[in-house]
Amino acid sequence: MSSSRVFRKFVIVYLLLHLSAALIFLFFASRWISSEMKQQGFLRLEMAARHIRHYFHLSKISIDDPQACTYSIEMGRHLGLRVTLIGTNGMVYADSESPDAVFENHANRPEIIEAKKHGIGKSFRISGSIDKPLYYLAIGFTEPTTQADFVEPSGFIRISQHRDDLQRLEKGVLRYLWISGTVLALLSAFFMWRFIQRETKPLDTFSEAARRIAMGQYDAVPIPDDRNDEWRNLADAFRHMLSELSHREASLLANSSRNQAVLTSMIEGVLAIDAIGVVTLANDAACEMLKIKQVDLLNRKLLEVIRIPALQQAVEETQLRRIFRCVEFETATEPRRQIAARVSVMDAGVHPGVAIVLHDVTEIRQLESMRRDFVANVSHELKTPLASIKAYAETLKLGALQDPEKSIQFVLQIETQAELLDQQVQDLLTLAKVESGQAIFNIRPIPIDSICRDCVESYQELAKKRSVRLTYAAKAEGIIARVDGKELQTVLKNLISNAIRYTPEYGSVSVTTYRDGPTAVVEVADTGIGIAPEHQPRVFERFYRVDSARSRELGGTGLGLSIVKHLTQSMGGSVHLSSAVGKGSIFKVVFPLAS
Ligand code: ADP
Repeated sequence: MSSSRVFRKFVIVYLLLHLSAALIFLFFASRWISSEMKQQGFLRLEMAARHIRHYFHLSKISIDDPQACTYSIEMGRHLGLRVTLIGTNGMVYADSESPDAVFENHANRPEIIEAKKHGIGKSFRISGSIDKPLYYLAIGFTEPTTQADFVEPSGFIRISQHRDDLQRLEKGVLRYLWISGTVLALLSAFFMWRFIQRETKPLDTFSEAARRIAMGQYDAVPIPDDRNDEWRNLADAFRHMLSELSHREASLLANSSRNQAVLTSMIEGVLAIDAIGVVTLANDAACEMLKIKQVDLLNRKLLEVIRIPALQQAVEETQLRRIFRCVEFETATEPRRQIAARVSVMDAGVHPGVAIVLHDVTEIRQLESMRRDFVANVSHELKTPLASIKAYAETLKLGALQDPEKSIQFVLQIETQAELLDQQVQDLLTLAKVESGQAIFNIRPIPIDSICRDCVESYQELAKKRSVRLTYAAKAEGIIARVDGKELQTVLKNLISNAIRYTPEYGSVSVTTYRDGPTAVVEVADTGIGIAPEHQPRVFERFYRVDSARSRELGGTGLGLSIVKHLTQSMGGSVHLSSAVGKGSIFKVVFPLAS
């Protein structure tokens, strides 16, 4: 059975209309039949009365004649009717139902009074004589000699019949009418119900189809195809809609996944904010930059999750003035990042949404700052020896040249400062080459033992001059590492010269090589002044010196360890420092062993 509400409504409305029409019809039909039966009943009584009167006239007998009485009684019994002969004065001459009874005067009976006036009278009432409901019809009787019916009747022939006799027939007819009417009504209701059910059945299928379409299940949508009426048109329209929808959904999905892929692969962060400031889109890069999970960001107000007034202000201004704004801010979470945001209008509503594109400019800003520092440092570093050279030259010019002893001393100073300058320029060039990635390394398996030994040898003279004991020890024989031999030399020379320079007299510097797992290690250890823990992470920075005056005095450029770090890393190795103030330092450079 169809469960559609439309079907139920149809059935209920139809049944109500149908049953009320049937009831109205049966009611009026019953009324008509009852009245017609009554008419027919009275007609029968009238026919019987006229027949008796005709007989009296033919037989030329008057109403109070005994022969008339006998005939009336016989006719009454024969017809199943009550025949009463009544005189004009109301005296009852004969009564077929109670022939021997003595009747009261009938002159004031309604049918007699009416018959006196119009020649015929009818009434329905409870009989005073026999105490039963009867239909009465009385016609006037004139003597056989008189021709006119209504003139001076000499009596009345009254025919009466029990109401039950008439009602029995009426009830039979009515019962037949009601039964056949009800059966017909039920049959037509049943066929109508079946008809409506069949006609409204596709509604269920269409509503199921619409439900599945709404859920995006385009594959198994049931659409009726067994009809040839308006339902077919609707089914065709549904099929068309379905193909359009699935086509659009496919293109929307393709679009959305394309956009998603683009957004996900972007290194720039993208945020979309709606008119009321709620974040509706955030790509992975944006979440990463702001250090916030996507679930915590989406569908929440921007101000609630990212408390950056500059950004909020840019969003509001963009919404208000419909111009794009660029702001730069620092993230609130550690590690702090410098983010540049470009805020632009996203749609053209009254309160437009905005799109925010975020760029992580931390490294750019760091590089800019490093570049500024570097220029300042280089200028400063070069200025010092240049100023010295200038000062010595001027002193010579102003007369020191005349003094051979002093002039040779000043010339030597100029030479030293020029060498320092040259060393600084050399170091800067080396560093610039390594950092820019332009340096070409010839990395290959090299026995590091001989290189270390040669380096140590080349610094023995300086060590001796400073009364420092310089030794070399190979803890393992034949260590072959993947390095560039020339650059390894540069690394070692920097480390050994530092160790000698920062070790006081009678101290010692030892260079050791050994294997550590898959790596070759060169260790330069000294018993020098050592480096305090707070300086240790910074000594590899360019121009960083723990003690600038001492470094310059010792001919340091502040670039040695920076070169060591960059060269080592460029060769796939690493450099490590452990040191204690007053006890000494150990620098370890680690390279991969040649397999
Ligand atoms: P510099 O030319 O000044 O030696 P480096 O880059 O080689 O520059 O070294 C940076 C700083 O590290 C030095 O100024 C010095 O203070 C410290 N340093 C380097 N090597 C040693 C060492 N072996 N012992 C103590 N301090 C050292």
